Amino acid sequence: MSYAIRLIDLEKHFQGDRNVFKAVDRLSMDIQSGEFVSLLGSSGCGKTTTLRMIAGLEMPSSGQILVNGTDVTDWPASKRDMRMMFQDLALFPHMTVEENIAFGLTLRSSRPRLGRDEVRKRVADYLDLAHMGSFAKRLPHQLSGGQRQRVALVRALATEPSIVLFDEPLGALDAGLRRAMQLELKRIHAALRKTFVFVTHDQDEALSMSDRIAVMHGGKILQYDTPEAIYDRPNCRYVAQFMGAANLLDASVERLDGGEGMLRLDGLGAIVAPVPDGLGVGQKVTVMFRADRALFTGEGINWIDGEHRQSVFLGNRMEHVVGLPGGQEVTVEAKIGETLVVPGAAVRFAVRPADIRVLVH
Ligand code: ATP
Repeated sequence: MSYAIRLIDLEKHFQGDRNVFKAVDRLSMDIQSGEFVSLLGSSGCGKTTTLRMIAGLEMPSSGQILVNGTDVTDWPASKRDMRMMFQDLALFPHMTVEENIAFGLTLRSSRPRLGRDEVRKRVADYLDLAHMGSFAKRLPHQLSGGQRQRVALVRALATEPSIVLFDEPLGALDAGLRRAMQLELKRIHAALRKTFVFVTHDQDEALSMSDRIAVMHGGKILQYDTPEAIYDRPNCRYVAQFMGAANLLDASVERLDGGEGMLRLDGLGAIVAPVPDGLGVGQKVTVMFRADRALFTGEGINWIDGEHRQSVFLGNRMEHVVGLPGGQEVTVEAKIGETLVVPGAAVRFAVRPADIRVLVH
């Protein structure tokens, strides 16, 4: 396995007013060469600090950073074979698009200097890659926000670093443009197969673009896995809720049979679900299922009875809030017209065992 980046027990402490604050807390992870990895988490979880340490813009308090097998922990940013793209694009306003990109190329003191023709060709090739060839002679103020974004991306890519770091580069764009740029970035990543490390607080963005996602909280990685695994098989309540509408019900283990368990939901009936190793009868657990995996219709075991409380129209589907005996509420998403319910009516829904995740406290 070839790792482009390996972080070992990385820590960053900041001196606060009274005590020392751990922004990044014994964080270890491997990023493979050519992988697209997102650091995802809410504001203040330490994702930007982690990225800045990888870039060499912030010195770790302790721990190691290895790039392609070499310990670069003490190396200055300029010596590392990587480029960072910020939300604040910092294009030079008086330079055309191609001059902005060419300037970035001539700045790289650590690389062999490129001849004028090579620079021109490199600039043209990368502008074409980002479908920006026809904008080469424009000044930044003659471009839209999305086009400026592409120029900044081209400027970072044209120096041909093996690793590109992104600090919420799409944060300032409106929803439509943001989506378009996500697809564009994914396409460019597939074409170049460089290592991309992308910081975002947007779950959908991370899910749609990444090969793997590291979900961060309190300076630590809670789960590091593929988008499918993070969404379908979260390893804790925080990740389950952070990644999208998750129903969490308290339960206790009633019976175990190999990899399957019978789980008694507090105040409700029992359901069957696959369980992790090491559970014991009587143990308290959390039963998790996504709103879009619960079904009002069809065959199924694991029926749960409740009372319909509220419906919300979501365009292509409806979200129904169901109250359960004991006071808990769950959310069930269904196709428009799939179920006709009125507030106060009794409803039943089923969740397939395979769609249930049992979380251990
Ligand atoms: P955001 O999405 O808001 O940028 P983040 O997850 O990227 O959040 P960081 O910027 O890495 O978070 O910051 C992590 C924590 O470290 C925050 O609580 C922040 O206030 C603190 N922090 C960051 N830089 C410094 C600094 N230079 N001095 C003191 N504290 C800092």
